[in-house]
Amino acid sequence: MSNAMYIHVPFCDSICAYCDFERCKRHPLLTSKWLNVIIKEIQNRKDEPIQTLYIGGGTPTSLTYDELNQLLSACDIFDPFEYTVEANIENLTKDKIMLLRQHGVNRISLGVQSLNQSLIKLIERHHSVAEIFSKIDEIYECGIVNISVDMIYGLPTQSLDVWLADLKQIALNEKISHVSIYSLTIEENSAFGRRKIEKVSDELDEQMYFEGIRVLEAYGFEQYEISNFARQGKYSCHNCAYWEYEDFIGIGVGAYGKENHIYYHWPFQLNDYIKGELEKEETKLTKEDEMFETIMMGLRMKKGISIEKFNDYFHEDLREVFHDPIEKHIKNNHLEIIDQHLRCTSNGWGILNSILIDFME
Ligand code: SF4
Repeated sequence: MSNAMYIHVPFCDSICAYCDFERCKRHPLLTSKWLNVIIKEIQNRKDEPIQTLYIGGGTPTSLTYDELNQLLSACDIFDPFEYTVEANIENLTKDKIMLLRQHGVNRISLGVQSLNQSLIKLIERHHSVAEIFSKIDEIYECGIVNISVDMIYGLPTQSLDVWLADLKQIALNEKISHVSIYSLTIEENSAFGRRKIEKVSDELDEQMYFEGIRVLEAYGFEQYEISNFARQGKYSCHNCAYWEYEDFIGIGVGAYGKENHIYYHWPFQLNDYIKGELEKEETKLTKEDEMFETIMMGLRMKKGISIEKFNDYFHEDLREVFHDPIEKHIKNNHLEIIDQHLRCTSNGWGILNSILIDFME
């Protein structure tokens, strides 16, 4: 039984220039067939004690009002305390916001990415800066008061000043309670990749990350994970389940999940999915895999990994299993043990990948 469920909606109204996710352009015939299958999948899980439900994509709000209503109605069998839906500004209409609210959605994750009109155009998104803030007002006024925004840095031609001014404007908006920041990656199969577009230099990228943290913290956000910031403790509980290496159910073509020591992925083969013939790809996790992944995910969080929880779960002592890398990185001031949690120091967070190589060995 799992407490966290992720549902993947693979459709988008248009495709952003940097995107190589598991998504495709919305087509009315496809969506209605897809809905029939996914609703059955959701119903098959009716007995799961879901605490956090996250509908992501793709763009869930690219579904029509009726399609969204069908999907949300199927999810009414659950009673999560945190219920998040990802949304894009151009297709989150007021009636859809009201619909989400009626079905118990209490958190919206909004794809904002940039507040600079020429960068919004460059990444091929189709909204204006003014619409971003009026949409946030609308969501809040409809009663969904837990609003998260995604922001991207490292975009071609983006300067440090433009990035920091965006973050400041976001942080000054009291209706936004959570911010996720991502460094642009140029994926081969994205429009940027095909056009051989280059992102900013590594030096500028790093500066954008560290200066971005400084701005968000200066305006009252707490960095609780490498890329995530919250006000008043409004962490993403669903994502915390990933970082705490809990099991989570993945529903729908393109989704990932982890249950009973098996990590799985529903490959992005929409035709097979619609015909009910899709087979999931499974990876059996060994105890060693799981111990390492607990470290890899847990060190992303500011609070780190609970030593007691690790020892109880694996029946092994964390400090013995990973004795050498822990001692080495405590000595180098990259790791520390505070309140029985192993966590990165502020120096360590910046070099997490190289710390993890030592744990892998
Ligand atoms: S970035 Fe998001 S909205 Fe844009 S195409 Fe990819 S999944 Fe769709």
